[in-house]
Amino acid sequence: MIGDSLTLGIMLIRKRHAFGGPCAGRLASVIVSLFLFAPIVLGQIAPISPTPGWRQPPVGTGACSVEKSCAEVAPSMIQSALRPSPLEENLRYLTDSIGGRMTGSPEADRAVGWAVEALRHAGVDEIHTEKFTIPAGWSEGRTHVEVLVPQAFPVRATSIGWSPRTPEGGITSGVIDVGEGDDAGFAKAGDAAKGAIVLVHTKVLVTWEDLDNEYVVDRAIIERAAKAGVAAVFWMSTRPNLLLYRHTTTVDGQIESIPQAVVAREDAERIARFLASGQKVRVRFEMPNHISGPAEFENVVAEIRGREKPDEFVLLGAHLDSWDLGTGALDNGCNVALVIDAARVIHASGVIPRRSIRFVLFTGEEQGMLGSWAWARMHRAELDRMVAAVIFDSGTGPVTGYSLSGRKDTLAAVREVLEPVKSLGVKDFTLDAALDTDHADFLLEGVPTLEANQEVTNYMVNYHAASDTFDKVDIGQVKTNVAIAAVSAYALADAPARIGLRQSRAEIEQLMKDTGIDNEIKLEGQWSAWEKGERGRQP
Ligand SMILES: [Zn+2]
Repeated sequence: MIGDSLTLGIMLIRKRHAFGGPCAGRLASVIVSLFLFAPIVLGQIAPISPTPGWRQPPVGTGACSVEKSCAEVAPSMIQSALRPSPLEENLRYLTDSIGGRMTGSPEADRAVGWAVEALRHAGVDEIHTEKFTIPAGWSEGRTHVEVLVPQAFPVRATSIGWSPRTPEGGITSGVIDVGEGDDAGFAKAGDAAKGAIVLVHTKVLVTWEDLDNEYVVDRAIIERAAKAGVAAVFWMSTRPNLLLYRHTTTVDGQIESIPQAVVAREDAERIARFLASGQKVRVRFEMPNHISGPAEFENVVAEIRGREKPDEFVLLGAHLDSWDLGTGALDNGCNVALVIDAARVIHASGVIPRRSIRFVLFTGEEQGMLGSWAWARMHRAELDRMVAAVIFDSGTGPVTGYSLSGRKDTLAAVREVLEPVKSLGVKDFTLDAALDTDHADFLLEGVPTLEANQEVTNYMVNYHAASDTFDKVDIGQVKTNVAIAAVSAYALADAPARIGLRQSRAEIEQLMKDTGIDNEIKLEGQWSAWEKGERGRQP
């Protein structure tokens, strides 16, 4: 109580000083403040709250050790995240006004410009963009598929992302069923697959595992198809009710080797029934995709500078790019809005973390994490000072914890440092690992990573689909996730000790073996990039 009124007194003196002549003003203000505060000192009326924007100097060491600072800092950050904020309006603008924003597209350019302004409004200290080059630009033309024989009907289909176009005039050929596209399926098809369009059956997408599998398994199927000399691949949609989505298996932004399309599940099953009944199916397939050469693109980078060790930093990130069939609300607009709002929350708290916090909105994620790969490469000299990469890219579901991607050595420290968000449900710290979003290249550089584990909720059915729109986002839950992201980033940046150090190349390679990531990289054709030091920590 006393402290407060004293502080207030000093504040009033400072304020008035701004307006009147120096001496007169000073005398007047002393009289006024005495007049005003007597009653308060005597405890009769409530003190006036400090003026907005006034920055409270760091509290003591401000160390976010479990019992001290988080008690002071975390609750107010959580409240700030849950209160009315620009989050919903930001997301509405990003999805409804800008919409699907594929890397290399004019919409993605607009999104970069918008994100810079949105982060500026959030109050960060510094903001800029960083350019990188993507190997090829891509957009879909007017895709047309129709069955000619045995029964003519139009087929609903969309191109695989970064798929080559069909030859001039399109493809008119038979369709061959290769089952789930495994060795047995191609063996059964035999020579009939050569020069034909093969139909690959799929399971409906339900779990995170299904999603990761879709990338690893599909890569192998494409290799079998290429070996068999097929003309094109039709993927049965993994979603019901004619829903189409953009899928790709490119992991380095290169154009795929074979023309491929996702075919509506009901249409694919109709074709499969004709084939199963022994009838031949012929289709006409035209897919005049637009492909351009290397193009420059940008990541958006902002920072809140640390007070004690500003050169050490935590990165809180999400990808800004999306596919183009929907408006990229669940993937990943809601987490773009989350990163921007976490910056607002940390800034608004008025406390300055021990180390810096960098807020990065990557692009090129859907084409193989190209933006975060470029970021890791460009900032290699700083990675020894990087505390952790904290990445959100799993939609709008409740956060249950973080995946530490095999870094057992960081588990105890992470659990302790993130104690303040336990009450928000952040309890499960897992050691599973997959190279499925923007933490991947930091993992391969040996930096500790925290990938938010979230409940599936409505993510799978809408994943990369035309239905990924603003209405699918649970704003209330995203606000809670903002609180978790802000306190997590702050806690990691302010903790007396770092959660773990950067691994050596040998340690990273051992981790890849222990977690099975080495197989994933080999299947995705990226092992030679690792061996040559094009991707991951330098030899
Ligand atoms: Zn994503």
